[in-house]
Amino acid sequence: MAPNPKQAPKAPRPRRSMPQLPGRGDSFWLNLATAIVVLVLLAGAYSYFTGAGGTAAPTVVPVSQVASDINAGKISSIVVDGDTLNLTYTDKSEKTSKKEPDSSLSQTLANYSVDKAALDKVTLTIKQQSAWQFWLEALAPFLAPLLLIAFFVWYLSRQVKGAGMQAFSFGQSKPRLTDPNDAASRVTFKDVAGAKEAKEELLEIVDFLKNPKKFLDIGARIPKGILLMGAPGTGKTLLARAVAGEAGVPFFSISGSEFVEMFVGVGASRVRDLFLTAKKAAPAIIFVDEIDAVGRVRGTGVGGGNDEREQTLNQILVEMDGFEPNEKVIVMAATNRPDVLDPALLRPGRFDRRVVIDLPDRGDRLDILTIHARKKPFAEDVNLSVVAERTPGFSGADLFSLMNEAAILAARENRKTIGQFDLIRSIEKVMLGPERKSHVLNKKEKEITAYHEAGHALVASLLPYADPVHKISIISRGRAAGYTLKLPFEDRRMQSKKEFLDDIAMSLGGYVAEKMVFDDVTTGASNDLMVLTNLARSMVTSYGMSDKLGTMTFAEPSEKAAAEIDAEVKKIIGEAYAKAEDIITTHRKALNAIAAQLVDKETIEREEFEKLLIVNGITPKKKEEIVIEPKVVNF
Ligand code: ADP
Ligand code: ZN
Ligand code: MG
Repeated sequence: MAPNPKQAPKAPRPRRSMPQLPGRGDSFWLNLATAIVVLVLLAGAYSYFTGAGGTAAPTVVPVSQVASDINAGKISSIVVDGDTLNLTYTDKSEKTSKKEPDSSLSQTLANYSVDKAALDKVTLTIKQQSAWQFWLEALAPFLAPLLLIAFFVWYLSRQVKGAGMQAFSFGQSKPRLTDPNDAASRVTFKDVAGAKEAKEELLEIVDFLKNPKKFLDIGARIPKGILLMGAPGTGKTLLARAVAGEAGVPFFSISGSEFVEMFVGVGASRVRDLFLTAKKAAPAIIFVDEIDAVGRVRGTGVGGGNDEREQTLNQILVEMDGFEPNEKVIVMAATNRPDVLDPALLRPGRFDRRVVIDLPDRGDRLDILTIHARKKPFAEDVNLSVVAERTPGFSGADLFSLMNEAAILAARENRKTIGQFDLIRSIEKVMLGPERKSHVLNKKEKEITAYHEAGHALVASLLPYADPVHKISIISRGRAAGYTLKLPFEDRRMQSKKEFLDDIAMSLGGYVAEKMVFDDVTTGASNDLMVLTNLARSMVTSYGMSDKLGTMTFAEPSEKAAAEIDAEVKKIIGEAYAKAEDIITTHRKALNAIAAQLVDKETIEREEFEKLLIVNGITPKKKEEIVIEPKVVNF
């Protein structure tokens, strides 16, 4: 009743962190505080110089008073300083006053009808204002705020650059750089398990980067672009970094998805800068991760970001076409969707070297587990080959998170070492998502789910080409109400028609059991039906496994062919249905027993399940009886 394991929500894939520019954190607040203190000081200084504060000011008197004081002969001298009048009285006291601006002192005083005779007794001095003082006074009210703003902008931009943001440096490329001399983040081929062919291919690139002269002297052409292709989590990013690590060259990495959310034109200029920087550091590697984000087939016109994507892609192509082989810069890119890539990327002289990274096989999985086990304390019972055996279809990243989950489980239970039990529990967690014990089925739902899973398990046990059952459970997991896990011994790349037919019958087992026992069906079988219908359709249209339609494949069938395909698919499913129905009818007692046990215990492991089969007169499959190497399927 569960979706295919590979569709189930996965634990977040671990990402290796790249060296980053220093983060904001504490230094941001420290800098802000400094800025505020400086501002306060500046403001204080400003108000001091503009004369608001400071020395005790002499008494200010109005000009009318000055006029009458002159007439009364009380003033001995006046110093004119701009518009300010510094008055010295005969009694030696000092006062100030202001004349009207833009008019001379004599004019002003005449207006106040000062006696010519009285004025003659006063010593008049006109102080020449210095030029800079004049300008400062005139401009200070405008200049001071401007200066403050300029200061702030400067400060902020410094701040922003430090934090690695782009607000003030739009065009600059911000690739993450891995320094070859940084031992802590250095990755080599030793850190990558499996992927033997890929490593062999890449060894040539390593050789070139280490000793470019040897190749250039003999006139060898080294590929400019290498495209790493493989499922998510197979270690493409890891492998690219390992190439740089092996060769001891700088590694500039940037992700295609980062370009997508940029402003138009920024992506292209980033690409330009990136290539420029890398050329300066040559020999070097440029790594464009998730290149499908920018390198999708052009002109499909979906979404507004399309324009930007095209410009970025074009710039990558221009740069790759533009550089000479002796530039010693190698561009690597990774994708898990080679099918959607723009053919322009794959043309000679661009990403013409392609390296496929497969999902690890059993031996590789053991090696990967061993690598990730290096720094972890294990209990004595741990047997990593058993874990490798039970994890077909797992990527390197899945195995990494399996190890991590196991460590978390052990830590949660306050143990100092990780046990085999932790590892086994983690397999299911990574494959199916965490158990949802809170999702409680009511009695009826529990019974239906139990019969459904028992149906799958029973049919699987009686069909010669289906894999033996490893575990059945009605505990909800991820989106699934229950699941049946089949035991893998080996992985396989090819499947036969007979296996497919048994698979379809097994997928129908749940539905058939529900129908026969309850005379009704639930929505729980919908995923099974979808999967098996797709499988039957592929058999007819892609694998040439239909007797009637033969060895043709049908990408875009005509109307007539479509009708024939539908008829064939229906026939395949119909025959499988009959097979499942037959098995469940014949072994109804066994079905009841399995379902009852499931309702009671919720989970049945392989051994227990096989005992149930034997009690009911069914011989369980043995390893050596399995006709073709098995795989994991679950429902
Ligand atoms: P991809 O780029 O193909 O999606 P990554 O290179 O990001 O995958 O792999 C994620 C993580 O999974 C790696 O950092 C590493 O810990 C682990 N991993 C994947 N493949 C391998 C491998 N072949 N050997 C060792 N670890 C691996
Ligand atoms: Zn099912
Ligand atoms: Mg990656």
